[in-house]
Amino acid sequence: MDIKNNIEKVRQNLPDAVTLVAVSKTQTPEIIKEAYNAGQRVFGENKVQELLEKVPLLPDDVQWHMIGHLQTNKVKYLASHVHLIHSVDSFKLLFEINKQGNKLERVIPCLLQIHIAEEESKYGFSEQEVMQLINESQLDSLTHTSIVGLMGMATFTNNQKQIRSEFKKLKHFFEHLKELELPKHMEMRELSMGMSGDYRIAIEEGSTMVRVGSLIFGERN
Ligand SMILES: *Cc1c(COP(=O)(O)O)cnc(C)c1O
Repeated sequence: MDIKNNIEKVRQNLPDAVTLVAVSKTQTPEIIKEAYNAGQRVFGENKVQELLEKVPLLPDDVQWHMIGHLQTNKVKYLASHVHLIHSVDSFKLLFEINKQGNKLERVIPCLLQIHIAEEESKYGFSEQEVMQLINESQLDSLTHTSIVGLMGMATFTNNQKQIRSEFKKLKHFFEHLKELELPKHMEMRELSMGMSGDYRIAIEEGSTMVRVGSLIFGERN
């Protein structure tokens, strides 16, 4: 595995303004260090425990992103270490993140995960739920979270047309929100979409942040 070379290959396909999140779940600290030495600073993990174990083993300027489903009772462990939470999928979770941010006197950046896939199993808000949150001003009291955008995962399929149309739909919603008067702690700056199999399509459809694992580190077991 030439991790440096893999990162460079992915970077070549990314516009400058797009953030590459290297998805390091299941990878050892030694392997992650190789990516770090190749200049990579942003890493994505999907399990709280695993992220916490890695934090002290890597340099301080690593930005740890939480990209997987997050249980409310684990937020407290994560709150001081996480740079961005991509996977906020309920108001209850957002409320808890705010509570922990408050305790630490830190504003925790979050993305709202939107359900765009066909599959039932994927987590996330529907567009209607997000509109409700905004309209019922439930977000106004959350002074220690900052919602900086949206995240979505396309259906697990080879059908490129379907993937593209799901990304298009998310981008459309993102742009729609941008035009609204949003709550104080909410802005539409980041659109996290695209993984190893579909990041090129995601870029074409307006992604600002791609989450790439296996193309960098190889297939996971
Ligand atoms: C594992 C994972 C990725 C990366 O998947 P690859 O196909 O290895 O690039 C991206 N996003 C989320 C939410 C993941 O859990």
